[in-house]
Parts: sequence; C-alpha cells; structure tokens
Amino acid sequence: MLSIFDERFPMFYTVIFIVMTFVLGAVIGSFLNVVIIRTPRHEPISGTHNRSHCMSCGHTLSPLDLVPIFSYIFLGGKCRYCKAHISPRYWIVELTAALAFTLSVCTLGLSISLVIAFVLAAALIVASGIDIDRMEIPYGCSIVIAGLGVIATIISVFTGDMPWYDHLIGAAAIAVPFALLAMFGAMGGGDVQLMAAAGLLLGWKNIIPAAAIGIVLGAIGGSLELLTVPKGTKKLAKEKSLEIAEKWYEMQKENDVYVLTDKTEALYGSIFKGKSDIAPDCIDPKCWNGTPDIAKLNEMLNAELSEVSKFGISLVLTNEKVTKVTCKRQVVFGPYLSVGIFAAYLFGSTIVSWYMGLL
Ligand SMILES: [Zn+2]
Repeated sequence: MLSIFDERFPMFYTVIFIVMTFVLGAVIGSFLNVVIIRTPRHEPISGTHNRSHCMSCGHTLSPLDLVPIFSYIFLGGKCRYCKAHISPRYWIVELTAALAFTLSVCTLGLSISLVIAFVLAAALIVASGIDIDRMEIPYGCSIVIAGLGVIATIISVFTGDMPWYDHLIGAAAIAVPFALLAMFGAMGGGDVQLMAAAGLLLGWKNIIPAAAIGIVLGAIGGSLELLTVPKGTKKLAKEKSLEIAEKWYEMQKENDVYVLTDKTEALYGSIFKGKSDIAPDCIDPKCWNGTPDIAKLNEMLNAELSEVSKFGISLVLTNEKVTKVTCKRQVVFGPYLSVGIFAAYLFGSTIVSWYMGLL
C-alpha cells in the first residue's frame, strides 16, 4: 500500500488526490441514485428511453441540472423547469458516496483494498437506499459483497494478511446469530444475507465490531424513529387490520374457503408506506379448504391503511374466525448495518484493539 500522505508525495499532490477522489465519489453517487430508483422497478439503468427527467414535469434534464451535489444547491432544491421540490435524497446519496470514497483513500492509500472499499461503499449505499424505500435488501448487493469476500479470501492466501479460513469462519459465525434474530422477527432475511456476505469479506475478527456498531446504531436510530410516530398509530393499525381481516375472512368463507377445523394458519407480511405485502406463497395449502384470495386481503389493507408505515403484520386464523392480529414496528436495519460494515472494513483492527484496551 502507498499512503497518499507519504512524505515522498508533495502536499499539493495529496490535496489534488483527495479532491479527485471526492469528485469521483460524487459522480458514482449520482449513478447510484439511478440504480436505487430503477432496480426495484426492473427498469434498465441506462438507455436513451431513460434519460434522466424531472419526476414532476417529465422535462429531460440537461447536464447542467445533473452536476452532483452542486446542481441541487444552485437550483435551490427546485426543478429549473417547473419549480417542483427536488428530494434531498439525491445530494445525500452523492455526498455519502463522496465522503466514503475520500475516507477510504485517506485510510487505505493506493492499494487493492481501496478498490474493494469503493465497490463495497457503492453496494452498501444501494442496499441502504433500497432498504429505506422498500424495506428489503436486494439479493444483488449481498452477492456483490460476497464476490468481494471471495476476492479478499484469495488475496489472503497470497499475502497472508489474515489466515484465509478466517474469512469463511466470519461468514458462518455471523450468519448463525443473525438467522436466529431473523427467526424472532428482529431482522429480515436480507439483513442475514448482507451480514454473511460482509463476514466473508471482513473475516471473523472484524465482522464482530461491524455487527456491534450496526446493532447499537440500529437500536438508537430505531428508538428515535419511534418518537416520530404519532401516539396511538400502532393501536389504530391493529384495530383496523383486525376489522379488515375479519371482513375478508367472512368473504372467503362465503366462497367456501376456510381453515380446516383442526388447523391454525398464520399469515405474515409487512405494511410499508401504506402498502401491504402479505405473500400468496406464505399460505399452507394443507391448512385450507380452497385457496384464499391473498391479493384481495392486501388490496383491502392498502385501501384502509394508507397512513400506516413500517409495520410487520401477522394474522392467525382458525376455522371459526381471525383469532389474533399483531402489528409490530419494524426498524429498517440495512443503513445501520452498512455503516457498521464499512467502519469495520476501514478501521476494524483499530476498533478491536481500542475495545480490548478498555477491558
Ligand atoms: Zn420539473
């Protein structure tokens, strides 16, 4: 590794280097914005049909409107053509990428680890953005990070910076406790995949601080988020969903669709920004006489719960009626875990020795 603060570099070059990395990060960040928005909709990332346009008036944006970070400032956060408010998320993503890149080059210097850090930062930013939007971490992001993990494992074989099997232990060691957390509903399956992939990249020594930072930040962030939810929302969501579920189950029974006498069926899903996603494949066909219309249930929940955001929902049904409805607040963990993973990638050994010094 060659540090950019190396004495052999004139100071001037160091500054140029930092500025260039910041600009590169901002440009990549502006591309990541497109990925975050288009990937979940299965739209192509590039192509002439898909020139960047204003979300309000549809006007195609000129290069001048697309300068990362600065365009937002110069345009005062408004579209140049229709004056519609532009979401601050664009410059937040651009600035986050720029800072992550700059921090990486200052910490890692010019090395193969730096290239890995850039790709890692990009994958984590996309994972966090989509998690915030959709409450799910896309599989693709975890695959990219696992790919970096494989590369890091191969590099370890040659450089011996850590035993190569530490990477494998890292993936296995973190997957087990996170899978348990997921089983209790504290995390989603996407979180488990993300952490397993990160474990492969970081190795077991560094995945521990990554998880610790992620969980602590998540707990703090989750509590703060909770404060912003108006009182009684949860109770309201629960009462409304029970009422809707009962109405829906009556309709199913009229069509001769019901839970068999000696069985209990539980349906799970989440309501996010007023959209319910109880999955049709979560039903157990052995429990039912006929096939329940899950799409109808989602439709009815969507119509009534448009105000409700970020609740995990579960319904328990027996032959007779809906016996239980639970609504549980869900924390979007992806961004917190991402901060933990990235901090551990850059500073893992420093964090571990600092913590060991405390003991
Ligand atoms: Zn516009």
